[in-house]
Amino acid sequence: KKNFFAGPSVLPMEVLEQMRDQMVEYNGQGLSMVEASHRGGLFEDMYDECLATFKELLHVPDDYDMYFLGGGATLQFTMIPMNFLRPGTVADYIKSGTWANKAGEDAEKLGSVNYYYDGTDNKFTSLPDPATVKPSKNSSYLYLCSNETIGGIEWQDFPDTGDVPLIGDMSSDILSRPVPVEKFDMIYGGVQKNLGPAGATFIIMKKSLLEKQNSNLTAYMDYKLHSKEKGLYNTPPVFSIWGVKLVLDWIKKNGGAEGMAVRAQEKSSIIYNVIDSSAFFRSPVDAKYRSKMNIVFRLPNEDLEKKFVNEAQKEGMLGLKGHRSVGGLRASVYNALPKEDVVSLAQFMKEFEKNNG
Ligand code: PLP
Repeated sequence: KKNFFAGPSVLPMEVLEQMRDQMVEYNGQGLSMVEASHRGGLFEDMYDECLATFKELLHVPDDYDMYFLGGGATLQFTMIPMNFLRPGTVADYIKSGTWANKAGEDAEKLGSVNYYYDGTDNKFTSLPDPATVKPSKNSSYLYLCSNETIGGIEWQDFPDTGDVPLIGDMSSDILSRPVPVEKFDMIYGGVQKNLGPAGATFIIMKKSLLEKQNSNLTAYMDYKLHSKEKGLYNTPPVFSIWGVKLVLDWIKKNGGAEGMAVRAQEKSSIIYNVIDSSAFFRSPVDAKYRSKMNIVFRLPNEDLEKKFVNEAQKEGMLGLKGHRSVGGLRASVYNALPKEDVVSLAQFMKEFEKNNG
């Protein structure tokens, strides 16, 4: 099958095969990774390698902590304001679509939120020019989502926020391209799109951000504790982290973040070219901010969109229905999706236009 789901999503075939082959016995060690203690060498050695590869691939400077937590990216919508939205200050949120908006709504329950930018009027099809983004004077942090998975818009460059910490949700475009990590004080995301099986959430945090943390937090909500314990304060999502380690090795073998950026450009332009060269398909988003991971497109009417999804499914192409909140169609073309599958989709789109246009 060709897997265009938005997440959980396609994993490299060789990673699935490695997990299958080593499920019963990991590297001849006499037990499976998923039955080993997280306080033992089998897991800890793998975990250290996983973090080291992640650091290398994303070019993370030494003054950042990296670890994994549970709870999904969604838990971070709460933990971020709980830790860093200080009383008497505001947090700036860029209201760019479903995911940034959910984060903002959770922050509003814990303190004062300023929506620096609100994409409601353009139905979340565009983003602010990063060069113009300036946080409020009394801002605790500025928050953005680097790729809106549902709306299909992606920041191409990031703002300079000076002394105000910049925090980014990179759940759906992590390691699809290099990012200037040093511009951010925190980058986080669920792993289930570009990095591995669902379960773990990656946290990359500049150590100095912890100096600005609120006090009196309960244990799991406290980044300082997780940083000290490297994410092993409590039982980590072992299976998910093992998968991430294997996916990171695969990314490394395939050219790292830079190699993934070339693949993403190549694959996404195959589909965008079909859309742009036809009056039948339409991209609803601002061309400047088109996502290279989640390609959102529309047909002349909803009946045709339904027909498209059904016929594509018969051809083995799964996950092309847009999110229920926005409708339309969406092809997610994450790192592990083979280029051949994208070529097949482009051919199918042209054929569908010929028969229905
Ligand atoms: N942020 C983005 C950009 C997402 O795409 C998603 C899920 O799809 C989330 C956050 C929420 O992630 P989780 O389901 O891991 O809580």
